[in-house]
Amino acid sequence: MKAKTWRLLKPLRKGILGGHPWIYDRALAPPSGLAAGDVVTITDEAGPIATAIADPDSPLRARVLELDVARPIDAAWIRGRAGAAARRRAADPLLAGCTGVRVIHGEGDGCPGLVIDRYDTTAVVVFDGAAASAFWRPRLPDVIAALDDVQPLAHVWLRGERGQRGAGEAWRGDPPELVAIAEDAARFHVDVRHGQKTGFFLDQRDNRRLIARHADAARVLNVFSYTGGFSIHAALGGAEHVTSVDIAASAIAALEANLALSGVPSHRHESAAMDAFDFFARAAKKRRTWDLVIVDPPSFAPSERTKPAALAAYGKLAAAALEVVGPGGRFALASCSSHVTEADLLGVAAELPAALRLRCAAGAGSDHPVLPAFPEGRYLKFLFFDVG
Ligand code: SAH
Repeated sequence: MKAKTWRLLKPLRKGILGGHPWIYDRALAPPSGLAAGDVVTITDEAGPIATAIADPDSPLRARVLELDVARPIDAAWIRGRAGAAARRRAADPLLAGCTGVRVIHGEGDGCPGLVIDRYDTTAVVVFDGAAASAFWRPRLPDVIAALDDVQPLAHVWLRGERGQRGAGEAWRGDPPELVAIAEDAARFHVDVRHGQKTGFFLDQRDNRRLIARHADAARVLNVFSYTGGFSIHAALGGAEHVTSVDIAASAIAALEANLALSGVPSHRHESAAMDAFDFFARAAKKRRTWDLVIVDPPSFAPSERTKPAALAAYGKLAAAALEVVGPGGRFALASCSSHVTEADLLGVAAELPAALRLRCAAGAGSDHPVLPAFPEGRYLKFLFFDVG
């Protein structure tokens, strides 16, 4: 079947051929006869440019699949892309000893709008929007077959479209209530049905490792702890004591189970199910301090418009955190908003009334590849400072 064509109204040929995979509404002619998930050929006056997934009702109108317009997007193409992504993980030394791995990271793996995380033998699939769902869902048999070839999957759970919490279905098998994963010496139970995102924040793996190396003999505070990623790595890294804070009681309960699973004695840990700002205020009042404080909040900037408010919130949060960093301490600040750049976050740090020294600026782990031509894909920022 010959793909439909869709005409560019803006001079984006060079950018698309350079590897930028997104085309917005203003850059394309009004869609006619196109449905979400259709495969289209993007063209301009000089001819065809790329094959893309159409999303005629979204501001993000098209996502590029392939620059070789002569190549059909058939089963072999799908298996090729998914298989290559899986093989890159299998060959990645940084993923050795880890049974929780992002095997397909959307645009970064040439699979726009598709995320697949593997927890042991369970895969969790997320589609980024209706068009991604319409395109990828019917092609899932080929995607999963390619993953099976590298490492067989017993269960495949569809989380459905991003943002639709609670939705989900078993596409293959019946995933266990909790899937146990290893991340170096740490052990976690992942709730693939009800947990946040796909159940675990795999993207912070290398940053958790950094924290483990800096935690020896330290008193550590992990705020926005979720199920204890940073806390458990810090404890296993030799922390004298770890305090974890998260507003969700369910996250704290999971964290405590994960501590036991990882063999951390309970006297080396305390947790608080409460709001971060309330915690900081209370701790400052009691003049409590920690040697190492980690702050990894949820995204504050869902859009470009909300960015100024988000930067102010990061500033407020960082200032509150610095109040409880003891002399000669260290401070880690993360942002998972793609609208907030590393430079933005450093700007926030520069405004703080504290002498900070940046020791490390990092992002997501190697199973979250970023296309150089697509900086929007670098959503996670992680800054690690010496304080004072
Ligand atoms: N650092 C974690 C991921 C953090 S996700 C990891 O490595 O796994 C963000 C967490 O912030 C969620 O668990 C959410 O429950 C929590 N959260 C959201 N708002 C909060 C608030 N006001 N105070 C404390 N925790 C909050």
